[in-house]
Amino acid sequence: MKQKKYTLPESEIPTQWYNIQADMKVKPQPMLNPETKKPVTVEELSQIFSVECSRQELNTTDAWIDIPEVVREYYSYYRPSPLVRAYGLEKALDTPAHIYFKNESVSPIGSHKLNSALPQAYYCKKEGATNVTTETGAGQWGAALSYASRLFGLECAVYQVKISYQQKPYRRNIMQVFGAQVTPSPSMSTRAGKDILTAFPNHQGSLGTAISEAVELARMTPGCKYALGSTMSHVSLHQTIIGLEAEKQMALADDYPDVVIACFGGGSNFSGIAFPFMRHTMLEGRRTRYVAAEPSACPKLTKGKFTYDFGDEAGYTPLIPMYSLGHDFKPANIHAGGLRYHGAGAIVSQLMKDGIMEAADVPQLETFEAGLLFAKSEGIIPAPESCHAIAVAIREANRCKESGQAETILFNLSGHGLVDMAAYDQYLSGNLINFE
Ligand SMILES: *Cc1c(COP(=O)(O)O)cnc(C)c1O
Repeated sequence: MKQKKYTLPESEIPTQWYNIQADMKVKPQPMLNPETKKPVTVEELSQIFSVECSRQELNTTDAWIDIPEVVREYYSYYRPSPLVRAYGLEKALDTPAHIYFKNESVSPIGSHKLNSALPQAYYCKKEGATNVTTETGAGQWGAALSYASRLFGLECAVYQVKISYQQKPYRRNIMQVFGAQVTPSPSMSTRAGKDILTAFPNHQGSLGTAISEAVELARMTPGCKYALGSTMSHVSLHQTIIGLEAEKQMALADDYPDVVIACFGGGSNFSGIAFPFMRHTMLEGRRTRYVAAEPSACPKLTKGKFTYDFGDEAGYTPLIPMYSLGHDFKPANIHAGGLRYHGAGAIVSQLMKDGIMEAADVPQLETFEAGLLFAKSEGIIPAPESCHAIAVAIREANRCKESGQAETILFNLSGHGLVDMAAYDQYLSGNLINFE
């Protein structure tokens, strides 16, 4: 029998995350304080984030950062996640390519987001915080932080993008099961929310707006820290656990990726699977392509500009050197809520600028076609976000079929779509808008 899954024992859960900043020849440009226009400091960042995450954010020298033992312990509830050879999909596509996926949907909340929620909640608690707050789009990050907060005994308040709050009631319920307080954003509970609702009474919400609200709450509330699920460099750092495991698992499969693919919202799951492999490209000249898959409706990497921009709508965050569509960009209501964000993280933006990685954009209809083919051939219903990675993997596999080359394709299955069935319902009933 051919081997389908490559699994690692719990003892092989990595003990350190990989900090790619240390190995980059051209470092990301610094984030700037919007008032002074000077690089932000740990002291400034730690006014809203935990001190440890603020340090990790600005660490450009240490390539390896220790994972706290208690975080590893909670990682063991679902990690190491399996690496799977997609024989079913290969057969359906009749491609000579070897397709592998790293299955992050096995986490208790169904996506990769828990990989960073656990350390972020842990550091907040360790530093004496009582509360955490955040924003969430589709609800994946909010669910992850709600659960991690429960584990470490923190109160959690989540601002959920209004359109998702309405379209995805079950994700809201998941957060509530773990005891979080969930508010649709924009809300009247913050200055930022009030301003936006006054200007646009029918505002459907966006991640940028919800971030503004959460940051404001963290600033105004003693003992309350803010945690972010994507974009920031410390989040990418935590997510490298995905690629570090995948590297060992590819070795078990006696294979190595020619192309690594992940969907792209702010860049955390992409960074997570790609950076450990990119290390070999940067240090040893290993030839691998890295492709970020983004929605045509929110194409920051393929159509955005490299510039200094805010991470949120109200302009509360530092200025981030990023590929951006503009911090007031209002993306169409695609179902991949986790990809409806205007900008890319600073590290990924620099790597993109330097040609170390590439990006592809995919219209919504193609992503669901890909998701259905994957579900039929591999038995897992993917999250609408993950469907973007699958769509690009299928494009690559079809290219291999045309050229007859048996390349090795690795993609990250960032989450399952079992709480996104309303989106599949629209697709199946022929009512899905394409948003080219
Ligand atoms: C949040 C999310 C994404 C996008 O976020 P990144 O930071 O770009 O990884 C992708 N897939 C799923 C399932 C998500 O929940």
